[in-house]
Amino acid sequence: MNHEPTIFDKIINREIPADIVYEDDLCLAFNDINPQAPVHVLIIPKKPIVSLAEVDEQDTALLGHLLVVVSKIARQLGLDSGYRTVLNTGPDGGQEVYHLHFHLLGKRPLKWPPG
Ligand code: AMP
Repeated sequence: MNHEPTIFDKIINREIPADIVYEDDLCLAFNDINPQAPVHVLIIPKKPIVSLAEVDEQDTALLGHLLVVVSKIARQLGLDSGYRTVLNTGPDGGQEVYHLHFHLLGKRPLKWPPG
């Protein structure tokens, strides 16, 4: 699938503001505009990957890096009693923005299974 520019590209390019909590050469993390928990951070690659359904072996290191960043941010934010990491994929997965992103949710107990 070709990558159509999304709102997240505009955040990467600083065309629209975001509450950025972490950035490095490969990724960006910012607070979700509609938080579902006291901590709700989105972690996105700067590479325009549409969704997990579109990745291949070339993306192995990048995907691992994103999860290491999730862990670092969780430590920095003091999510010592745990947190949830979510990656919605496609319409049935509830994906709304077609630029791959991890959700990091914490600072409240989260139920399972999700809806
Ligand atoms: P998903 O449903 O997994 O695609 O999640 C998309 C997430 O992006 C939702 O939680 C939205 O609240 C969030 N979102 C959409 N636009 C923005 C924005 N401009 N800044 C921060 N978060 C956003």
